[in-house]
Amino acid sequence: MTEAVKRVYRFGKDAQGSNVTEGSAAMKAVLGGKGANLAEMANIGLPVPPGFTITCQTCMEYANAGNVWPEGALDEIASYRADLEQRMGKRIGDADDPLLVSVRSGAPLSMPGMMDTVLNLGLNDRSIQGLIAQTGNPRFAWDSYRRFIQMFSNVVIGLDGDLFENAIIAMKQLRGAASDTDLTAEDLAELVGEFKRIFSENASPERYPALVADGQVTFPQDPELQLRLAVEAVFGSWNNPRATLYRQKNKIADDLGTAVNVQCMVFGNKGNTSATGVAFTRNPADGTKEFYGDYLVNAQGEDVVAGIRNTSPISELKHIEGLQEAGTELEEVFVLLENHFRDMMDIEFTIEQGRLWMLQTRAGKRTAASALKVAIDMQREGLITKEEAVCRVEPDQLDQLLHPQFDRSATYDVIARGLNASPGAAVGKVVFSAADAVAAAERGEKTVLVRWETTPDDLAGMIAAEGILTSHGGKTSHAAVIARGMGAPCVCGAEALKIDAEAKQARIAGTDIVLREGDVISLDGTTGIVVLGAVDLVEPEITGDLDTILEWADEFRTLGVRANADNPEDAELSRSFGAEGIGLDRTEHMFLGERKQIIQSFILNDDPESRQSAVDALYEAQTGDFYGMFKAMDGLPVIVRLLDPPLHEFLESPRALEVDITRREAAGADARSLAADRELLAKIDSFVEANPMLGLRGCRLGIVYPILPVMQVRAIATAAARLRKEGLNPHPEIMIPLVSTVAELEKLRGVAEATIAEVCEAEGVELSIPIGTMIELPRAAVTADQIAAKADFFSFGTNDLTQTTFGFSRDDVEGEFIPQYLAEKLLPYNPFATIDPGVAKLVRMGVELGREGNPDLVVGVCGEHGGDPDSIRTFHGIGLDYVSCSPYRVPVARLAAAQAALREPRA
Ligand code: ADP
Ligand code: MG
Ligand code: MG
Repeated sequence: MTEAVKRVYRFGKDAQGSNVTEGSAAMKAVLGGKGANLAEMANIGLPVPPGFTITCQTCMEYANAGNVWPEGALDEIASYRADLEQRMGKRIGDADDPLLVSVRSGAPLSMPGMMDTVLNLGLNDRSIQGLIAQTGNPRFAWDSYRRFIQMFSNVVIGLDGDLFENAIIAMKQLRGAASDTDLTAEDLAELVGEFKRIFSENASPERYPALVADGQVTFPQDPELQLRLAVEAVFGSWNNPRATLYRQKNKIADDLGTAVNVQCMVFGNKGNTSATGVAFTRNPADGTKEFYGDYLVNAQGEDVVAGIRNTSPISELKHIEGLQEAGTELEEVFVLLENHFRDMMDIEFTIEQGRLWMLQTRAGKRTAASALKVAIDMQREGLITKEEAVCRVEPDQLDQLLHPQFDRSATYDVIARGLNASPGAAVGKVVFSAADAVAAAERGEKTVLVRWETTPDDLAGMIAAEGILTSHGGKTSHAAVIARGMGAPCVCGAEALKIDAEAKQARIAGTDIVLREGDVISLDGTTGIVVLGAVDLVEPEITGDLDTILEWADEFRTLGVRANADNPEDAELSRSFGAEGIGLDRTEHMFLGERKQIIQSFILNDDPESRQSAVDALYEAQTGDFYGMFKAMDGLPVIVRLLDPPLHEFLESPRALEVDITRREAAGADARSLAADRELLAKIDSFVEANPMLGLRGCRLGIVYPILPVMQVRAIATAAARLRKEGLNPHPEIMIPLVSTVAELEKLRGVAEATIAEVCEAEGVELSIPIGTMIELPRAAVTADQIAAKADFFSFGTNDLTQTTFGFSRDDVEGEFIPQYLAEKLLPYNPFATIDPGVAKLVRMGVELGREGNPDLVVGVCGEHGGDPDSIRTFHGIGLDYVSCSPYRVPVARLAAAQAALREPRA
């Protein structure tokens, strides 16, 4: 026989007042966060109502067996229940002096509000009389009973909560009562009867045969049955859709399970010396060192959060008649908890007839600004070390602070307010449809898309617009969710906006302002305000607390951080964010706008003369581009990638052209112009590839059209030579993309070296420009030793490497089947967002082989993964020299790299 596993742990005191707690804060995986911290609070002498915790593992065993109890578990629970009854000197369901308990969920990782809790369990038609007799307070007793029936029906049986809420409202109307507290004991007793009737009418006899008596479902009177059903319901809530979705979003494993805490009730609803509340030991919005929170007198549990009555601020508590002592003690507890857990804590408490009880504590959720301030303050208070402070801030959270903002010195008039749905500020011309936003973007105009509420059909317009403004919908409306996902500023639910999308105008209620299409407005998604006219925007700056934490982070990280940028403004921005170089300058981004004509003329004219003149024009333009880039990054490396995308990306869409020709033909257009366009169409068609991701692109372009790399390398070297002559210190590096064999690299390296030598000769300067390659194809990774012998550096292009390792075409799969794969758990997460272990294995192989082939090889990564904290941790572990990411991710990467180094020091 295997040794029996322990499934239940007790916490709190025994009848003699000794602490008999079996668990501790270290046992979160077994007891869940709530259970482990209840045990910890009991261990440090805080007043915790006694109880016991059923382990998370029991939940998983029960679920995996198809909702069947593991052998012996129910007996073990029964014996802990008997122990609790003995400790309290009361029995659950007792007719004279009943013990009431709460049945509370609590997973290893905090999932606030996702799972279920039942309060006041143990009441029935007999024990209510005992409760009345013991407390001499019939109103309190009936209020507890009606709450129990309500919660049990909703949480355990799944009945609609409105059925009960409506009955309460009806009763209040009947009695002319303004608030719940105005209802009398008799009213509540009547409500209990009504609730039991609602229960019988709505609970399913098929699903709950145990509740059927005399051919009708009745509210369970047996406390043992009440308890078992409640525990099963809490187990079941682990897999409710809400909780499942939350875990998916927060990358929490599905096999952790939830613990169940069965705990003696304490009552905040026993009159005016009783209260219940929630609090933080510091301000979770801005980090100020102050007690923060709310309480309600004569109330229970959810009342505070549910917002049914107006709460009072926690700072007043100790001044309230009858609550002074508990209020003062609570403040002492705040300090004690912070000192013990060495973090800002979130607390739930109840005061029963002047006596304080602690019901929960955990590390408090906080905004980015608060996280920074709390970490720095606690380090300065000596509570935590610098290393801990750096690990206390979520890198992804910094995103909240890293968007353009209104210039604080600007003055402006606010015309409307809404919800601050997605941070950052935007200025643009008002458009009222997605199509108009797209059309404006094509003309190079900045817009703000104004809609009543957005729908999936508006997506293209939302992408095209600088910001999104809606008059309807909350923080989880379509507009808000999508905008946050895209990182676009959004103000939603600005109700003063009366939109007439047909007429393309919006009235601002209460004013005589009318917004028409094309009017310029500004919006600030960080604060939720809308302004008429253009407000000056400023880029966020790394100052204050953010600067302090990032400086500390830099002391610990070993991974370098560079930026992906292709114009001097982005380069400067990334430098101000702390980038130590440019890891990827995508030269094709320099061929947009008016340059598009030149590259098109290069592609479409195959006579050498036109080609040469197009190339000359490109050379002029590129030399200027590189000059600006190297100047902005003076003294730091700038890796320029030679032209990479398939050429058709620079051409018009052949379909659109074909439609146009057909239309003009029907309209009787001139035959000569039609013939010219048909010829153009044939030409464009000749560049269409069945599988362009795997076609003529990357280094293959340079091999087929050597004139292109020669032009680009000449421009790079010339720009560097000019800056050198001006006394600056440019550090260009040349990167050859999409290499799969060393022969490709050797060939293009030869071309580049010869060109650099020519420029040096012509300009009379010495230039040493490293030449390296991207590793973004599996063949390159597995032959990295050979390739490294001809390369000065490697940069892993993990976007393409993910595409080619999986055989996934990113543009095709992300919208289509990856969401389904995630839902069905065929993939644990999107491999284009966080590096997949299989792809990471190729990176590791590439690094190890590469360093064998060339011990001086510098290795980095420049895919989108370079800005993702989880991937950064993997890259740190592999031992890369640096990551490169978009400018706004640079601070995120600095912090994530420091955390990786602190958590997994390199050997
Ligand atoms: P959640 O995880 O959703 O916060 P909890 O288990 O913390 O759920 O319960 C919610 C609220 O119910 C608590 O904040 C507390 O006010 C109340 N509650 C839970 N257990 C007890 C108890 N033993 N005595 C009094 N109130 C309780
Ligand atoms: Mg709670
Ligand atoms: Mg690539």
